[in-house]
Amino acid sequence: MSLAAGHPVIAIPGPSPLPDRVARAAHRASPDIYGEDLALLNQQVMAQLKRLAGTTAHVAPYIGNGHAAWEASAANLFEPGDRALILTSGHFGQSWAQTLAAMGVVVEVLDFGLQPADPDRLAERLRADPEASIKAVMLCQIDTASAAMADIPAMRAAMGDHPALLVVDAIASLGCAPMMMDDWGVDVLIAASQKGLMCMPGTCFVWFSEKARARGRTTLTSPYWDWHPRAEGDALWRYWGGTPPVQHVFALDEALRMILDEEGLFAVWARHAALARAVWAAVDAWGEGDSGIRLPIRDPAARAASVTAIAIPGAEALRSWTAAHCGVTLGIGLGATDPANALRVAHMGHCNAAMVLGTLGVMEAGLTALGIPHGKGALEAAARVIAEPA
Ligand SMILES: *Cc1c(COP(=O)(O)O)cnc(C)c1O
Repeated sequence: MSLAAGHPVIAIPGPSPLPDRVARAAHRASPDIYGEDLALLNQQVMAQLKRLAGTTAHVAPYIGNGHAAWEASAANLFEPGDRALILTSGHFGQSWAQTLAAMGVVVEVLDFGLQPADPDRLAERLRADPEASIKAVMLCQIDTASAAMADIPAMRAAMGDHPALLVVDAIASLGCAPMMMDDWGVDVLIAASQKGLMCMPGTCFVWFSEKARARGRTTLTSPYWDWHPRAEGDALWRYWGGTPPVQHVFALDEALRMILDEEGLFAVWARHAALARAVWAAVDAWGEGDSGIRLPIRDPAARAASVTAIAIPGAEALRSWTAAHCGVTLGIGLGATDPANALRVAHMGHCNAAMVLGTLGVMEAGLTALGIPHGKGALEAAARVIAEPA
């Protein structure tokens, strides 16, 4: 017998659950792409994207995923041979560094293992660069593999007077954890549609400050990736470098309305924080009695709001069990120290307490079914967080 019938729960950190409303908004025939209605809708979406990021500066939309946004931003920021300092906290920072190196950027890595970046080490490195050879400081706000969350204002403060641009990959954090691009002094921000933005994969965005724009075009700035026409938007096709992804624009409009106008950004951040704490409480309880179940990131302030990485002996078997028996798909232990004994639980985007408590309950059942030792009281602990989230 399987208990997996019913609505599947896909608790992987992207693509995140797609709200029915967003899917319905996209479910339509293509309208006239030269008509005024679509142009106005697109402008509205661009304005909402700026609200989401906390900026009055510029945003350039692209058809593509997060990897496309990495290339889009790099193509506008660097000449081949320019030096970038990237602070890595796991798989995504490392793979971003490889993309930059493949584009001809001289990449210097400050490696923090699977822990969040340390502002003191950044400050120390920049003090040793009085001639300002480093053009950009780059990091993931949340590295989705390690689930480490960086303190972006602390990074900006650590940069002091150094003129490098601050470039933040917020693909796994925008719409989940606080981001105030202008207030925090972020020059370039990167996100994609399929995580906190609650849309299907397929579009991505690069927000950029006036200081970043003022650098102008480089030899890497090919016509498709050039952010200037996309941000200036004097015609609909210019925003998207050709035919707009019409159905995606409708989906984005619906999702951004849900986040910004209905639930509200502060409430969205608070919901993610509470759901994350419920997961951490369960893991702490499972970890009682030397079970080996634990959160690799000890400091709660350094943990992601959108995804939790967990070390669990037998994680691979547990993942198979929850999917086969209960319809719950957990994230793989991507980039973990011991991937076979690690997994990730996403609580990202369109996610509520029932989904998180259901996922934790199914994990508890799997631990029991597979005879994986675990402490008791995990569900009570999670329920207590949900009962008193503040
Ligand atoms: C998902 C993710 C990426 C890659 O995005 P794709 O859409 O898979 O190309 C990059 N960085 C972070 C932090 C991510 O979470």
